[in-house]
Amino acid sequence: MKHVFKKIDRRPIPALDAVLGKPFPILNDGFIRLIDYMGSDDAIVQAARVSYGKGTKKISQDRELIRYLMRHMHTSPFEMCEIKLHVRVPMDCWRQWIRHRTANVNEYSTRYSEAIDSAQTTPPGEWRLQAFVNRQGSEGTLSEEEGKRLSESEAELQKLARDVYQRRLNRGVAREQARKDLPLSTYTEAYWKIDLNNLFHFLFLRMDPHAQLEIRAYAECIGREIVRRWCPLAWEAFMDYRMNGLSFSAVEWRILSLMLKGDKKSAREAALSAGWLREKDGKLKICIERGEFESKLGMMDISPPWQRG
Ligand SMILES: Cc1cc2nc3c(=O)[nH]c(=O)nc-3n(C[C@H](O)[C@H](O)[C@H](O)COP(=O)(O)OP(=O)(O)OC[C@H]3O[C@@H](n4cnc5c(N)ncnc54)[C@H](O)[C@@H]3O)c2cc1C
Repeated sequence: MKHVFKKIDRRPIPALDAVLGKPFPILNDGFIRLIDYMGSDDAIVQAARVSYGKGTKKISQDRELIRYLMRHMHTSPFEMCEIKLHVRVPMDCWRQWIRHRTANVNEYSTRYSEAIDSAQTTPPGEWRLQAFVNRQGSEGTLSEEEGKRLSESEAELQKLARDVYQRRLNRGVAREQARKDLPLSTYTEAYWKIDLNNLFHFLFLRMDPHAQLEIRAYAECIGREIVRRWCPLAWEAFMDYRMNGLSFSAVEWRILSLMLKGDKKSAREAALSAGWLREKDGKLKICIERGEFESKLGMMDISPPWQRG
């Protein structure tokens, strides 16, 4: 039997085309630039309909279908969309970024070319203090006055490191060896290509408040400036179900359902048997998991049953 193929319509995405090649500035001298893209919300829907068959179109509109795919982790239709970015990132931030293995990367070579003569600088009011509970995080900032001194020493250090590097190059030292004492604040550049499913995974981890502020700035820009224009329906579903959705573990569900029934005593007992409270007197102890549950309750404006006063 002869196949009859439907004509393929390739609808442009004017909102995204408008920012093609335009650098979005990040930090003091970083940027993100859209180089190319393939696919759209239509491509996601088109791929999904191959698996769900003709009937899908009648029973669900595009938006509903995309939201269904996102809710049920039917991820492969999102892989039909790809994006290529040109990024300029300080090396410490890049070190976190490059851990995402599902992208295709080609980075500027400091063996082949001189290192980019630019480093990330910190304004006096932006020296963050070490967080107490989250040992990987920061909270609060130093005073402007102290920060000013740190920013000055940062500038001295970066200048010294660059001068030493330049002197080595001037003496004919190979670039691959001369670079070894450059600070992690030095900017690098790369072309970074990734499909939308893996990009959502990257954004989920790196737009999260637990991610470091610097990489968050890049992730926020990719999400809000680029993905939102590129695949608005998929972006909306991602924000609703993944970024801004709440999930609960079995223990959390149990405690929450007891609380909703008004059974505070059993809720406390469940927290005790989960190891969230102290065995001997049922009082609070440092417990990261309980703290995370309390944050979720806080988002719903609910007080935990163990809160006093
Ligand atoms: C807040 C935060 C703190 C972190 N702290 C640390 C730290 O202290 N030390 C540290 O070393 N790292 C740290 N990381 C990095 C983290 O452990 C991951 O390496 C990084 O986030 C990449 O995640 P991923 O592997 O899921 O992503 P990707 O590499 O993009 O992979 C996406 C998904 O593909 C699959 N996948 C990819 N490659 C493989 C493979 N080879 N085998 C099996 N499955 C694969 C997995 O399902 C994976 O989730 C931290 C990350 C975050 C967000």
